[in-house]
Amino acid sequence: MRLKDKVALITGGARGIGRSIAMVFAREGADIVVADVNLELASKTAAEIEGLGRKALALELDVTDFAKVEDGVNKILDKLGKVDILVNNAGITKDNLLLRMSQAEWDAVINVNLKGTFNCIKAVSRPMVKQRSGRIISIASIIGLMGNWGQANYAASKAGIIALTKTVAKELASRNINANSVAPGFIQTDMTAKLPEEVKRKMMEAIPMAKLGTPEDVANVCLFLASDESSYVTGQTITVDGGMVMA
Ligand code: NAP
Repeated sequence: MRLKDKVALITGGARGIGRSIAMVFAREGADIVVADVNLELASKTAAEIEGLGRKALALELDVTDFAKVEDGVNKILDKLGKVDILVNNAGITKDNLLLRMSQAEWDAVINVNLKGTFNCIKAVSRPMVKQRSGRIISIASIIGLMGNWGQANYAASKAGIIALTKTVAKELASRNINANSVAPGFIQTDMTAKLPEEVKRKMMEAIPMAKLGTPEDVANVCLFLASDESSYVTGQTITVDGGMVMA
């Protein structure tokens, strides 16, 4: 088991990619905190994790609210004793062309995706520094590397996550805390299911492997970054995109 008795906090863990990360980590021996705005769904995912024989805590958490995030981390420390791994996965889209994008659409996406990531990193960094170990994994996107029509807010938030990750990696490396980001391409989830067919067709043409990825494809890379196998890897962005973006 690659994560035996580690405690992992996964934001947006109730469904989609976050849920898949939670299940993969639990199968590798981790206890899981499923933190999500949707408590009902988070509780369902937590129950499935318990079914795998691991401890699971469903936490109602809006990552945009720092006081609530701090409170949530304190609850985890009370109940599970530590936080070894943070996965910043909660994310939203509110697409619109720049000329039509409202202040509200910009703010909402930056708040959840970028400020939410900052809030969670800040809240776990103190206990991680104290225990002199930790793994921080943030889910960015290839859109943060290449930009995309109609996604100024989303692209900026994901590029921000990549830069934030590099800074955290530099600041916390001496405390044995690694920070990396994962940039998925097009993955089969509710988020991509709502894309228009024409957009999906064009995307497929741009993917050398000519298929969408699965949530497990992303979860497996997160597993590597959470495990001891990646102990000398920090500040990196790993793309999981069927070859769509090559540096
Ligand atoms: P998803 O299916 O929409 O799941 C996201 C989860 O995050 C939902 O459970 C959602 O809750 C929760 N969430 C939303 N706002 C939150 C907040 N303020 N605080 C806490 N939780 C919140 O998305 P996904 O496709 O699995 O994507 C997961 C991550 O991967 C995101 O960061 C996304 O940007 C990134 N990503 C996805 C793809 C893709 O192709 N799917 C590609 C690149 C990157 P509710 O929906 O119930 O509100």
